[in-house]
Amino acid sequence: MKFVASKLPQHLGQSGWVQMLPPRTPRASLNGTVNVDVVVIGGGFAGLSAARRLSQLDPKLKVAVLEAGEIAEGATGRNSGFIIDLPHEVSSEDYGGGETDERRHDIKVHRMAIALARDLAVEKGWGKDIFDPCGKYNVALGPQGDKHVVSYAKELDKVNEAYRLFDAKEIAAVTGTTSFTSAIFTPGTVIIQPAAYIRGLADSFSGPVRLFENTPALSFERQGSSWCVKTPNGAVNAGKMILANNGQAQNFGIFRGVLLHVYTYASMTEAFDPSLMGGERSWAATPAFPMGTTVRRVKGEEGDRFLIRSRYTYNPTMRVSEGAIERAGRVHDRKFEARFPMLKGVRMQYRWAGAMALTWNGVPAFGEIEPGLFAAIACNGVGATKATASGIAAAEAALGIDSWLVQVFKGFSAPKRLPPQPFLTIGATANLSMKEWSAGLE
Ligand SMILES: Cc1cc2nc3c(=O)[nH]c(=O)nc-3n(C[C@H](O)[C@H](O)[C@H](O)COP(=O)(O)OP(=O)(O)OC[C@H]3O[C@@H](n4cnc5c(N)ncnc54)[C@H](O)[C@@H]3O)c2cc1C
Repeated sequence: MKFVASKLPQHLGQSGWVQMLPPRTPRASLNGTVNVDVVVIGGGFAGLSAARRLSQLDPKLKVAVLEAGEIAEGATGRNSGFIIDLPHEVSSEDYGGGETDERRHDIKVHRMAIALARDLAVEKGWGKDIFDPCGKYNVALGPQGDKHVVSYAKELDKVNEAYRLFDAKEIAAVTGTTSFTSAIFTPGTVIIQPAAYIRGLADSFSGPVRLFENTPALSFERQGSSWCVKTPNGAVNAGKMILANNGQAQNFGIFRGVLLHVYTYASMTEAFDPSLMGGERSWAATPAFPMGTTVRRVKGEEGDRFLIRSRYTYNPTMRVSEGAIERAGRVHDRKFEARFPMLKGVRMQYRWAGAMALTWNGVPAFGEIEPGLFAAIACNGVGATKATASGIAAAEAALGIDSWLVQVFKGFSAPKRLPPQPFLTIGATANLSMKEWSAGLE
């Protein structure tokens, strides 16, 4: 069977993370035919972590990574940069589901992803501007959020995880604003400059691992004992193939009817004079209330910036409009003003949208889906951790290694089939709107 891409990825808006970096010359695109042991489709967290793990396991293995655009253009280079070790949602009922043992299990998986990132940071000699193991805050903006903070602490007690509770005064000393009513700090999250991180990972490959940018996989099919991937100006023949292009896998007809394509949005301010406000110059906070707003203060030489991330939209066609970015931007502006009134007049410089792939039952789409074809897809919005881990697991599985991590990923149930259209769009849109409405200013 031949799998043909019906569509290629599109990344809308200008990611502030990329704009903050010096220009980079992308790796050359593929011209001609190459024969390798493993081909990886997609240069995000999943794909590049898979390539790194492959080369760790066998430094002589020939690997080709195909990235449709330039590294860091996709969701991996435009996210909020939280590599989170603990289950993500704060409310006890949304803590991440499952029982205590299952949660410990998840935490161990997340920490394996963090270990890959930490090794890379050490190898590269990165400073805190790219890789900062500083932990994160979950901040509340009122009584609803405060309740979530307390219930999250109780859940952390059950799994013996460290945290510190902050009252309004204490969190104000960190954030420089009196807007937050309470917070919980957990030390294990690593904060990255996502575009710098993924560029660094991409640029670490040499020798038998070759990365081809601006090289979309247009089609692939099995030919004898290998897979042949066609690109605009070439082809790759490989014994094994890892599909790490997240929701875009569906454009090849794979995982049709199980992936929910949800977009989220971010805005980043211009650099401002740090003396305009108090607090620490670098901190990162996710919302205590699910579906709330992520905030990061980013210290820079030319001044500090704030990142505001909120809004979710369901986009089954995997396309968003400039209008959607503008509308999300207006929400960001309101949330920014409400939190940081002392920065009146500081404008947003960059705004962007990015894709995530979720499944109905929150499981990844993982495994050997055809002989020699492995998928590491659908990391349910926490891809810095989960896509990294699934990339590692896919690499191990592709080399026939039955590791603990591979067992964990193989043990997930299959993604649940989505309801038919138009019920799906109506239901998903209503659900997101309801949750956003109940999040209010959070
Ligand atoms: C604004 C925003 C904030 C977020 N914040 C966080 C956060 O703080 N922490 C967190 O854990 N997650 C966050 N996420 C989610 C996270 O970014 C994703 O879960 C993650 O990027 C998924 O990684 P991935 O490698 O699976 O997919 P992607 O990052 O989407 O990478 C897939 C790559 O495949 C390429 N590709 C697609 N089709 C082809 C093809 N045919 N041929 C070749 N290449 C192809 C794409 O160009 C892309 O580069 C956020 C997302 C957004 C949008």
